[in-house]
Amino acid sequence: MVTKKQTAANEHLEHERLTSLINSMADAVIAVDEKVNIVMYNGAALNVFDVNTITINKPITTLLNPIDAENQAVDIITMIQSAKVPITNRDLLLKYADGSRINLYMSIAPVRLGYGEKGQKGYVILLRDITREKSLEEERDEFISVVSHELRTPIAIAEGNISNAEFIADKTGDLATIRATLKETHSQILFLADMINDLSTLSRAERGVLQVNVEPINVHDLVKELSHNYETQAEAKGLQIKTVLDPQLELLQSSKLYTREILQNFITNAIKYTEKGSVTIEAQTAPKGVRFAIHDTGIGIAKGDQHQVFDKFFRSEDYRTRKANGTGLGLYVTMKLTRLIHAEIDLQSELNKGSTFTIFVPNLA
Ligand code: ADP
Repeated sequence: MVTKKQTAANEHLEHERLTSLINSMADAVIAVDEKVNIVMYNGAALNVFDVNTITINKPITTLLNPIDAENQAVDIITMIQSAKVPITNRDLLLKYADGSRINLYMSIAPVRLGYGEKGQKGYVILLRDITREKSLEEERDEFISVVSHELRTPIAIAEGNISNAEFIADKTGDLATIRATLKETHSQILFLADMINDLSTLSRAERGVLQVNVEPINVHDLVKELSHNYETQAEAKGLQIKTVLDPQLELLQSSKLYTREILQNFITNAIKYTEKGSVTIEAQTAPKGVRFAIHDTGIGIAKGDQHQVFDKFFRSEDYRTRKANGTGLGLYVTMKLTRLIHAEIDLQSELNKGSTFTIFVPNLA
């Protein structure tokens, strides 16, 4: 026979189990009665509300006063009381006394028994801080919108040019015009290829799967190769590509792939944001490595923009920047690669005078 004492002990054990169960949850749990007064809460609730204690039997509004994305107060009592089935919401914000705010995930489940006074019905509210997820979602949306916008322009130009070339071939067969049209198409396709390259490097960098393959780099050869590769592009804009090479340069031990990619990003930008003058690729011996510098005589970067150029999607508002295609990803990717090879970047720039991006690449072996 089960004695009263045993029953009480079992109930106590059951209660302890439930208490430790809800206290072990990472999400805040608050139970309220029919009048939406607080009946019970767990430890995580203290963290979400940033308080040391929560007063029982007080309305939930003493604790929870969320706002919506438009900064408008949300009538939480009505929201809870109208929950006839479990509902969830991911669009609420919680504001703290210091003005900071978090994005909240909230689920409200009506429960029939147990939580109200004398065990009538009530609601179990679960809250979670989803600020990070929300900001990742926003970043992803922005990413998709920027990338699709940037892809659309070169594709539209290339498509227009090709159909133009077809039209000319049919009508006049004027080879010079067809060639000029194809040349423009070619440069747009090259831009697309660069961009896809940036995106794929970025995705690998963000997944942390990029490997650094250290090998001896002949800096002379690398700089010569780069200057040769960009000659046509620079000439098309009437720019000169110059090289300044330290005769003392020795083999550099680093990732050739990433060093080249970083320099290419600087050179592409230097050509892109320079209307007249030159782009100089320089390499100097430095203690334990090589210091590269890409100088241009271009539009320059305003003081206020200089600390942002390595941010994801940042593009200067300057109309001359906006004239050129771009995603604002090149320097962001560059910074990721720079960290991988333990290099250091420095930027000197003056508006309307030009910019110098310097990178010190250390020997890794
Ligand atoms: P994108 O060139 O695609 O816009 P980047 O990440 O390569 O993106 O560069 C970010 C921004 O930094 C550019 O939009 C431009 O405003 C500025 N910038 C970078 N390099 C130069 C440069 N050499 N001269 C002037 N502005 C530059």
